[in-house]
Amino acid sequence: MTQKLQAIVIRSNDRKEKDKNILLFSIEQGKVWATLKGVKSPTAKMKIAQNPFCFGEFMLEDGKMGKIVTGFDAIETFHELGDDVDKYFEGTAMLEIVNAIDFSTQIEQAQVFVLLLKCLKSLCFGSVQPLYVLDKFLIELFAIVGSPLNVDKCACCASKVFDKLWIDYKDGSLVCSGCKGWGCEELSTTTLSALKVIKNTDLEKLSTVKLAQESENGLLRVLVRNFDARFERKLKMIGILS
Ligand SMILES: [Zn+2]
Repeated sequence: MTQKLQAIVIRSNDRKEKDKNILLFSIEQGKVWATLKGVKSPTAKMKIAQNPFCFGEFMLEDGKMGKIVTGFDAIETFHELGDDVDKYFEGTAMLEIVNAIDFSTQIEQAQVFVLLLKCLKSLCFGSVQPLYVLDKFLIELFAIVGSPLNVDKCACCASKVFDKLWIDYKDGSLVCSGCKGWGCEELSTTTLSALKVIKNTDLEKLSTVKLAQESENGLLRVLVRNFDARFERKLKMIGILS
């Protein structure tokens, strides 16, 4: 039986001499591994389908050793991301993040799919600082999978009056001084204001935002640590944090 999936390639590994295994992130079924046969030949018809970021319609069939790609129609290859090293690293980080998450519902996975696609478009074709797209992606992801980062009230007592917020790395929530427990870390004023700006600005308007370098670095560090705590996975973020 042929299956048709709208999907983005999030990983690509060598398999045998001429084949590649690709990990697809699809709107219909979440993450699915499939094999592209003979795709390393320069004349291979589905050559572009082996590239991470590639978005399109994939036809899959069950083979002896798993699913095989039997057809592919490209919708957007996002190959331009390869021309800009910053954009490429931020985009790769978003794929790494999706790869690291296990989804518990189909709605979650569909919402994250739409978010990833929007963020890749903005990264690839927009004039936004690549780092802000990654920040936005993480902030929106937290709201879909788990609990949102509330910047205007304490996640524990719901008080809206506080002088400082603290990050509770047990679950990634933000709490007030009265609710903070052991292991909470104070969120600096600059990081908190950067978080508010990125959270409250739509993706389409992010190109108008310019943060100070110090708050840029601080915010991403907090978001990535927050991710590690929520999902118990350590992100590598090659080219960004390393
Ligand atoms: Zn509180």
